[in-house]
Amino acid sequence: MTLRFPVFVLTAGLFLGGVVQGNVALAQESNVAKVFRVTPVRPVAELMKEALAAEPPVQKEGLRVPDLVDLASLSPDFRFDVRYATTRNFLGTPVYSSSHAFLERPAAEALVRVLGALRAQGYGLLIYDAYRPWYVTKLFWDATPADKHHYVANPQPGSMHNRGCAVDLTLYDLRTGEPVSMPSGYDEMTERAWSDYPGGTPAERAAREVLKKAMMAEGFLLIPEEWWHFDYKDWALYPVQNVRFEEIGKSSG
Ligand SMILES: [Zn+2]
Repeated sequence: MTLRFPVFVLTAGLFLGGVVQGNVALAQESNVAKVFRVTPVRPVAELMKEALAAEPPVQKEGLRVPDLVDLASLSPDFRFDVRYATTRNFLGTPVYSSSHAFLERPAAEALVRVLGALRAQGYGLLIYDAYRPWYVTKLFWDATPADKHHYVANPQPGSMHNRGCAVDLTLYDLRTGEPVSMPSGYDEMTERAWSDYPGGTPAERAAREVLKKAMMAEGFLLIPEEWWHFDYKDWALYPVQNVRFEEIGKSSG
């Protein structure tokens, strides 16, 4: 998701496998496995059908020709937990037809350089999400209750993920292969997700800083609302796309 103007809301859902009670900190438990949920306003299958049939916003002329690259093809040190291809996401149902993470080529190559810098510090990158077809952004918007719309990207004009220029990710420990605990879980709709949230453990905050610093050094921009989300600096040069994972690279466009 892309958060906008976040408000501290815990009534929106629950953490599975975690503990959420009001705004009390989550004890010392790792945030890695937590999954935040909202109740879709209508059945997701119904909304998916509508989203697939909908027309994405018209793009302006002169944008770059998309060149989406599968991150898995670039380095064995990328790991993947594409939760939108599973039930472990905020809608509780798969919204991607397969587990893939594509980025526009310059962003993907920058991410490989981030990986190189982190390797020296003992970390790899675990990718949660990258390019997202526009219909999924529309589905997220339509499924999310109106009072929570500030947590999801508006399909008009579309999101950075739709442009193949945003990535959701975290660190994993190269020795153990385990994700590193951060001050919040992924896709958590609370203030703990803010990139400068002062809570969590010192180790969690330090890990968040390591990620931030490595990403920003290679042209990725952080957003205040989500520590795991980064926009690539050249996002405005790329169009919103609606191509499905399975169709990427099959046509000339
Ligand atoms: Zn994101």
